[in-house]
Amino acid sequence: MALLAGLTGGMGSGKTTVAKLFKALGAYVLDADEICRSLVEPEKPAWLEIVDLLGNGVLRDDQTLDRRKVAGIVFKDPEKKKALEAILHPRVIEEEQAIYKDILKNDPGALVIIDAALLIESENYRKVDKVIVIACDEETQLQRIMAKNKFSREDAQRRLQQQMPLEEKIKYADYVLHNDSGLSELKKKAEALFHQLKQLAV
Ligand code: ATP
Repeated sequence: MALLAGLTGGMGSGKTTVAKLFKALGAYVLDADEICRSLVEPEKPAWLEIVDLLGNGVLRDDQTLDRRKVAGIVFKDPEKKKALEAILHPRVIEEEQAIYKDILKNDPGALVIIDAALLIESENYRKVDKVIVIACDEETQLQRIMAKNKFSREDAQRRLQQQMPLEEKIKYADYVLHNDSGLSELKKKAEALFHQLKQLAV
């Protein structure tokens, strides 16, 4: 029996780092953001719908979506944000399910992890067997966001305020992985969790 788990957490919590650790241990990792980018390539159905919704102004010269412009519009317009999510989320989830089924054809005991910042907001948590939330205290999160993205403290704080609060995400979690100490500690915790999940997948 295979297992599909969703890995989520706030910005800078350590999702990518944990996903890489899981991958190194032998899990299949699907990156929701990468899947989303592939679904909005020029002329694909989602791209057409987004251009229809937001206009040609969100396109670069090469016809690809300018994600910063898209983000700029929907940040100020909740209705458009909702409409954009209605275009993207179901398609991303559908694609993930298709990839998962494909993996299972070759590896019926696979452990597959979806790395998805919006696992809960997109309702995708309903489609996975287990939900893993990476937690860390807000100050650590701010420091990591500032260092990774070269954001000011104010920018990092603003980004965090736009997100679903960590306490809310934790309510959906089957496993909470606390990532407040160093990388070697995180590695130990990720390994322990990996073995727990792997046992459920056999
Ligand atoms: P984003 O939401 O921006 O995609 P994320 O949740 O995927 O972020 P990561 O990219 O894994 O988070 O981690 C954010 C930054 O913090 C990275 O530079 C990463 O190397 C660092 N980091 C994560 N966990 C630790 C840790 N335990 N100790 C030190 N640095 C860490």
